[in-house]
Amino acid sequence: MTFGTEKPRVLDGIAIAAEIKAEVAQQVTEALAQGYTPGLAVILVGEVPASQIYVRSKVKTCGELGIYSEMLTPVAESTTEELLALVDSLNKRDDIDGILIQLPLPAHVDTNKLLDAVLPEKDVDGFHPINAGRLLSGASPDEVLAPCTPAGIIEVLKRSKIAIAGQNAVVIGRSNIVGKPVASMLINESATVTICHSKTKDLPAVTREADILIAAIGRPGFVTADMVKPGATIIDVGINRLDKAEDVERFFPGNEKRREGFEKRGSSIVGDVDPAAFAVSSAFTPVPGGVGALTIAMLMSNTVKAAKLRRKS
Ligand code: NDP
Repeated sequence: MTFGTEKPRVLDGIAIAAEIKAEVAQQVTEALAQGYTPGLAVILVGEVPASQIYVRSKVKTCGELGIYSEMLTPVAESTTEELLALVDSLNKRDDIDGILIQLPLPAHVDTNKLLDAVLPEKDVDGFHPINAGRLLSGASPDEVLAPCTPAGIIEVLKRSKIAIAGQNAVVIGRSNIVGKPVASMLINESATVTICHSKTKDLPAVTREADILIAAIGRPGFVTADMVKPGATIIDVGINRLDKAEDVERFFPGNEKRREGFEKRGSSIVGDVDPAAFAVSSAFTPVPGGVGALTIAMLMSNTVKAAKLRRKS
């Protein structure tokens, strides 16, 4: 099934992330001219290989954009109290504008206590209850540190000139990291927003009303073509690893590039939307190369924003 005769537009997250990073680099130059360097501290507790990769790429991007960064690597056995003391010391430092605690933390650490200990003005992940509350109460996007993935979704929509005001937006997923904050941000942009989750009745009937459909579920290819209104914009947040050749063939039938990639790496990535469903849309974010590409760019953007806001107040 296709929507009209036009092929759907691919919303290129990599290109949009590059645009945002170039703007951030410019803002860093302006900050330097004013006598300060925006600084980010990343706390990585223990040795989780996936987290190490994420953290390294955050630190590397800081370097590319001229942001000062510091990586702190307390041992996995660190207690909540020891980590709280570390956060406290970073809260007090003037050269650190942003503090990021890489999740997940070891099971014995009180994650919420630690996230809540970060000063809201240094909370570049936007997870602190004060920042979540500010977002919910409609703070201007320039004045609030919003979570990076939802902020990236809004950037994709705006920079791709996709109308938000007055549109029906349906968000599948109600997590504090993606679903709830993106719903708040869409309301702030004057969309009519419905949030769905695992208890939603007749989900396909709800999603078929969406002009903008956001899938943040964590289930490979969950959204099928019959759940999409023809001409809708689909934002696929999901990152799901496929490690069986038959699953790769099911989602990407006859796709040689995917098959070769799978043979080389032993896995392939699919979003929460069945790739066949994209044909019904007028525009969609691919996986990979869509929303995922924006997250680090928005972290960088939040760091320079935090640096500016701290110096304004
Ligand atoms: P969570 O597991 O925290 O939340 C998933 C949500 O999906 C829940 O609200 C859950 O409902 C809902 N859900 C699960 N099953 C169903 C179902 N059958 N029908 C309807 N709703 C359902 O996930 P996250 O929000 O953290 O992440 C979602 C996806 O986004 C994941 O694939 C993750 O990897 C990806 N992600 C990508 C990022 C990026 O940078 N691109 C960043 C963060 C996440 P309920 O609340 O009722 O259980």
